[in-house]
Amino acid sequence: MDGNMSAITASNGWEVRSPSREYLGLSSEERAKIDGFLTEHPVKLGAIAKRLGVRVLLSTLPRGTSGQISKEDGDFVIRINRHEAKHRQRFTLAHELAHFLLHREKIEADGGWSENVLLRAPNQPIQIEYEANRLASDLVIPSAQLAEATADYTGPMTSEVIEDLARRFGVSTAAMEIKLQMV
Ligand SMILES: [Zn+2]
Repeated sequence: MDGNMSAITASNGWEVRSPSREYLGLSSEERAKIDGFLTEHPVKLGAIAKRLGVRVLLSTLPRGTSGQISKEDGDFVIRINRHEAKHRQRFTLAHELAHFLLHREKIEADGGWSENVLLRAPNQPIQIEYEANRLASDLVIPSAQLAEATADYTGPMTSEVIEDLARRFGVSTAAMEIKLQMV
């Protein structure tokens, strides 16, 4: 599905996935709001939400629901399942922020989306979710930040290194493997 995916080669020779077309397609106005937060890790997702005018709540959600996004009283609100693991909550927040950036008109027209543990909203084409996941990956693991961080390691990319990088960015090892072009 990502036939034209390109890569950044880090200083130690490892390849880091380039920013997605969804990220590159954001308006310069939106990029200006978020880019300042993508220069350090772990990325402060709560601060990005605030800058975008999105409210974030840790909530008790129905079992099997990871996140919700809707427009309430004029503002977008994201609810994150308070009972899930922290790096999981971070990715859910990044995924919902990506939906806000890419799909907010559809969300508003539908009266809000509620997403299951696979971060899929009912009755939405899977393409919508691929788009949100690609942009979410750029929010939690900015390509330039990762390319820079890899300079702290030499030699082969071992599972210990991937776990260490995942911890530093506050993400799952699976999310880190995707960004390191391993899957
Ligand atoms: Zn989704």
